[in-house]
Amino acid sequence: MSFEALGLHTNIIRALTDSGYTKPTPVQEQAIPAAIEGRDLMVSSQTGSGKTAAFMLPALHKLASAEIVSYENGKTPNQERQAARSRGDRPRFQAAKPKMLVLTPTRELALQVTTATDKYSAYTRRLKAVSILGGMPYPKQMQLLSRNPEILVATPGRLIDHMESGKIDFSELQMLVLDEADRMLDMGFIDDIEKIVAATPPTRQTMLFSATLDGMVGNMAKRITNEPLIIQIAGSASKHENIQQKVHFVDDLSHKNRMLDHLLRDASLDQAVVFTATKRDADTIADRLNIAGFAAAALHGDMHQGARNRTLDSLRRGQIRVLVATDVAARGIDVPGITHVFNYDLPKFPEDYVHRIGRTGRAGRKGLAISLVNHAEGMHVKRIERFTKQLIPVDVIEGFEPKKTAAPARSAARKPTGWKPGDSRKTGNNFGSSKPGQRSFSKPAGAGNSSSAGPRKEGGGYKGNRSSEGSARRSFGDY
Ligand code: AMP
Repeated sequence: MSFEALGLHTNIIRALTDSGYTKPTPVQEQAIPAAIEGRDLMVSSQTGSGKTAAFMLPALHKLASAEIVSYENGKTPNQERQAARSRGDRPRFQAAKPKMLVLTPTRELALQVTTATDKYSAYTRRLKAVSILGGMPYPKQMQLLSRNPEILVATPGRLIDHMESGKIDFSELQMLVLDEADRMLDMGFIDDIEKIVAATPPTRQTMLFSATLDGMVGNMAKRITNEPLIIQIAGSASKHENIQQKVHFVDDLSHKNRMLDHLLRDASLDQAVVFTATKRDADTIADRLNIAGFAAAALHGDMHQGARNRTLDSLRRGQIRVLVATDVAARGIDVPGITHVFNYDLPKFPEDYVHRIGRTGRAGRKGLAISLVNHAEGMHVKRIERFTKQLIPVDVIEGFEPKKTAAPARSAARKPTGWKPGDSRKTGNNFGSSKPGQRSFSKPAGAGNSSSAGPRKEGGGYKGNRSSEGSARRSFGDY
């Protein structure tokens, strides 16, 4: 299947060729023709699956075609505004009337969607996309809105501020996209979303993208869409099959720090993200790594938006090799050079684990995700394994063996089905210098034969010494 066969405008295909896209991803193949037809969509797909282009390409196709028609018939709305201005006919304020609105949970994701839109619309005429985000100065946003952009990419809170003060009018909105809708609900945006949806015309086309369509998000999706086409992508991107996952046990903080330093020196590492539970730890570890000679920087929610953007730009340009971040960075970072993700601390929610590790292995590349786990955190790993329905092999590095041994090795039935011990050689994957994984941590529900392995009792070989930092030092609260 080619992009031409999906019916996209040649100017859009030209931009895709420039971006190095040769063929559509599975979600694009299914979503683009239906979206061009004007159908509502409910799509379950993960970040990394090419979902941004799945909604933005058909939207640009439609907007660009519509714009060309009205352009040929006379003036575009923006030209009319300009003409009015040059006649000195200058109204004090005119609300922006976007044609498309993309709602995202985080500022980072919003900026990434806007950047992708600029890239895809390089050869289409007169389409402007702007981000409306919390943390951005109001005068700057007013200036952006005064240009009456066709496409708004926004986080819900700030958008509502502008709606309520009459700066945005959705009466001409044609398309509404909810990107990472599950995450927006997790973040408590349900009321804001309902308010925004209520301000848009019922005739709009609605496209909802989410990691899952179950539960609350599925109910909301059904409420706001009209006879939607449901697309479920359970491809390798959602299972992260291209990402090798490992757990390394650590005895204490000093062991963890030494292990991290060692792993960051892996020759196959291009760029890495190290996830911490707290903002303070992100700063402290970034400082420590800088002193140790790594080009490291922190990224977390206490930083001003400008500083966050600058850090992400430096990461994209390769000036930063190690980004130390809280979960605020777990979604929306799309930097192909990220070969490794480290969970210095495990995430609070298993869903966040999936998003964190998805920072590597972008667009089908291989990636490595390593969790540095204290023995007392066994249950957290188990929860993640249950959620992902994948086993995470435990690995040991020579010279960094934990003093405490983990659960006794079980039968082959407990070994992971995806990446197997020795895979690194068999598959030509050149990640890591450690010895092959010894065993998986536990067995997710429904995987393999349990008769010989038997589910490990809670806490099994891991309980006992809870004096290490996992239980004593941190809670997962304040990112
Ligand atoms: P997303 O799921 O939208 O975050 O996209 C993940 C990555 O895949 C981004 O780096 C995109 O630039 C890239 N991508 C999207 N569609 C394609 C495609 N058809 N071919 C190659 N790369 C793509």
